[in-house]
Amino acid sequence: MNTKIVKINKIQPNPGAIYEAGNIIKDGGLVAFPTETVYGLGGDAFNPDSSRKIYEAKGRPSDNPLIVHIANITDLDAVAVDIPSTAYELAARFWPGPLTMILKKRPELPKETTGGLDTVAVRMPVNEVALDLITASGGFIAAPSANRSGKPSPTQAQYVIEDMYGFVDMIIDGGDCDIGLESTIIDLTSRPAMILRPGFITFETLKEIIPDIVFDGNIIDASSPEPPKAPGMKYRHYAPKAEMTLVTGPVDNVITYINDKIEQNSSKGLKIGVIATDETHYLYTADSVKSLGSRKNEKQVARNLFKVLREFDDEDIDVIYAESFEEKGVFRATMNRMIKASGNKEVRV
Ligand code: AMP
Ligand code: MG
Repeated sequence: MNTKIVKINKIQPNPGAIYEAGNIIKDGGLVAFPTETVYGLGGDAFNPDSSRKIYEAKGRPSDNPLIVHIANITDLDAVAVDIPSTAYELAARFWPGPLTMILKKRPELPKETTGGLDTVAVRMPVNEVALDLITASGGFIAAPSANRSGKPSPTQAQYVIEDMYGFVDMIIDGGDCDIGLESTIIDLTSRPAMILRPGFITFETLKEIIPDIVFDGNIIDASSPEPPKAPGMKYRHYAPKAEMTLVTGPVDNVITYINDKIEQNSSKGLKIGVIATDETHYLYTADSVKSLGSRKNEKQVARNLFKVLREFDDEDIDVIYAESFEEKGVFRATMNRMIKASGNKEVRV
């Protein structure tokens, strides 16, 4: 397949290209596009063939549901039914923005889009290119992240091109994603409401609107017969090529442990990467040491995680040791991705 790459951002608005991309989606094709969270791999949510193509392009099992992206709150009831008032309260406060709500699906929405489920995940992104594209394509774009299944979500166009060139009709390069982690997913069909995936909109903030909200951080063992409630809960996800270990504990212990490991592994001839912070990066002597940013800036740390994991892939790092973060606020979302990227390999020191 020929893939057209176009650059669009605030400085280079390109209405012609958005119109063309919208028509590709209307005609059943696929377009990778920027959002404020990560890049999306979009197709027409009401076209079952488009959803099938998305699964194929991603190399993702088709029981893994997609998120339906809308550009107007009035379009919500075109995809969902029995919408609780809480959904409108959440939309008023957080849409457009990085919050995805799980609602009861309208029967007209094809099951191919929702991975066979009776529920639908809906989000209204804030990124203007995304909003314009949704409108140009008829209003409903089904999209997962624009990476090959299992790899870290792309937050920069170069990684979308690496994964999706030849698999989609068009890639829109809209620059780097602002947030850099996928949306918070909240299930409003369960009682009490449940966070299935932590994100930039935090548990603490959502509690202000839904006081009894719970967080389902349960990671299902891969050998369990239980299906994953949200993909990434069961299998290794967001994963770099290297084997990754997350190291948790008082900072001095973490540094000592990681430096010991660097020594042991380099004597075996392995290429080692460390995920550190601005406060600690100079204390390691691995082949590649990368800072996610300052521990005082949870947003910066979130934005850099997937980028750093991709860079380690580029550098053919064999083993990664990562510092961890306190499970609160936006750090909870970063930690959730790090735990999954490591395939649950967390050591406490
Ligand atoms: P991605 O961001 O690429 O992982 O794709 C969208 C994600 O949304 C899926 O992996 C699921 O975690 C989640 N999702 C979408 N629809 C549903 C649903 N109906 N129920 C639970 N989770 C969903
Ligand atoms: Mg994904």
